[in-house]
Amino acid sequence: MAKSPAVDSELIDIHEARRWQDELSDLVTTPEELIELLQLDPEQLPWAQQASDKFALRVPRPFIRRMRLADPNDPLLLQVLPGATELEVVAGFSADPLQEAEANPLPGVVHKYHGRLLFITAGQCAVNCRYCFRREFPYGENHLNRKQWSAALEYVRARSELREVILSGGDPLVLNDRQLGWLAGELAQIPHLNKLRIHSRVPIVAPSRITDEMLSWFARSRLKPVLVLHCNHASEIDAEVRAGLARLRNAGVTLLNQAVLLRGVNDKSETLEALSETLFDAGVLPYYLHQLDRVNGAAHFEVSDSAAVEIIEQMRRRLPGYLVPKLVREIPGVASKSPIETSSKLPQTN
Ligand SMILES: *Cc1c(COP(=O)(O)O)cnc(C)c1O
Ligand code: SF4
Repeated sequence: MAKSPAVDSELIDIHEARRWQDELSDLVTTPEELIELLQLDPEQLPWAQQASDKFALRVPRPFIRRMRLADPNDPLLLQVLPGATELEVVAGFSADPLQEAEANPLPGVVHKYHGRLLFITAGQCAVNCRYCFRREFPYGENHLNRKQWSAALEYVRARSELREVILSGGDPLVLNDRQLGWLAGELAQIPHLNKLRIHSRVPIVAPSRITDEMLSWFARSRLKPVLVLHCNHASEIDAEVRAGLARLRNAGVTLLNQAVLLRGVNDKSETLEALSETLFDAGVLPYYLHQLDRVNGAAHFEVSDSAAVEIIEQMRRRLPGYLVPKLVREIPGVASKSPIETSSKLPQTN
């Protein structure tokens, strides 16, 4: 009798784990299926097989369910559909725009900033975003075995100035809770750490991933939990995403969002204002708005700095300060994200 609640919760956990794992193994990976699901006219799509050969189409179904039917310009669709424009060679765009290969002291560790570093915990993501700078990153070399994990942990243990480890990727939440729980447990034993951060798009694209088991190693750790989401458009947040985020928030997780400024997707201040309001409603504060990294294949998404600054200035005039993200870009060799300064124009009235 006394045992049955434990058995019940175990059953629920198994059910939860199966559900997200099924969801992440049942991705849409062909344009034909995407076109059919969305009732698109193939003639209207800038689809290109060659672009998909270079960086595969991968999209979880919950994310597709939030796209508008029969709309080739849907802002969510544009983020995942491989297009012919990706094949253009554009000056200034390269395979490794961040020169991360140079800040990679050990496999799986990217240490560029003071007091915090990245663990490349997974080589994969749940979704492949066409603008991603990691589309050309050598993930294979960053898939760690236990011995390499020990070395990465030793690196952190030996550097008492570190306060925070950031689980990044790929996307750390494609790993299972047994693997992540082990890692979080090891990190919690390192006395100079006080925070554990996750950078993930999974709670947006596959919200069933937020399970009790995940909360047990993340939210109940000695380390203060911070989750930085990646969401670019208000339509990415539906009731299921909101429910998952509420569980994280109620468990004490600090929720922040980083977005990438993308032409045709969110490059209007009204669109980003709606994103900020929707995030806030779901308990998430906007953190960064990134200028994209100039990786091959992403040029058609680029927004000029002057247009970006104008968008942010308009947001600042219309929203409370805490709903205006910091507009930044990453510059190789600089020890933090670099703010893109707003113009120091004379006072305007409008
Ligand atoms: C972005 C980034 C971080 C985190 O930076 P914050 O400003 O703390 O969010 C840490 N390390 C690397 C290498 C990064 O690119
Ligand atoms: S989820 Fe993040 S890391 Fe993964 S493909 Fe998208 S932008 Fe890149």
